Amino acid sequence: MITNKLRAAALKSTFQREKILEYISSRKEHPTVDKIYKHMLKICPTISKTTVYNNVKSLDKAGLIKAVKFSGKGEAIYDGNPSVHYHFVCNKCGTIFDLDLDCKNIIKKEIDGHLVENVCAYFSGVCKECKKDL
Ligand SMILES: [Zn+2]
Ligand SMILES: [Zn+2]
Repeated sequence: MITNKLRAAALKSTFQREKILEYISSRKEHPTVDKIYKHMLKICPTISKTTVYNNVKSLDKAGLIKAVKFSGKGEAIYDGNPSVHYHFVCNKCGTIFDLDLDCKNIIKKEIDGHLVENVCAYFSGVCKECKKDL
């Protein structure tokens, strides 16, 4: 499955690349490069952070994952779901959730005369878990 995805994207399938794609796609965690690197160290203790970084970059370029940056200062997170969707960011625990809101019909539409090609909008607040402690 993962190998097929890589092949379809004309990316060479290496063990590390497969494992990185598998990690990002299999959960909805939206990990940072650091987090992916920490996970990969458990599988390949010799892997470097640069290798992880280069791999996520080519996966992003191939459209298999999506790099998302919420603010100028923040680190990019990597989304296993490359299709356009909105996010909810929790101000308390920092967890990033996918929101099941339809925004596909915004792409390629014109708003105030501007052509929309991508949506990076996100909602923020208190997530359902943190809300329990309020
Ligand atoms: Zn939270
Ligand atoms: Zn997402």
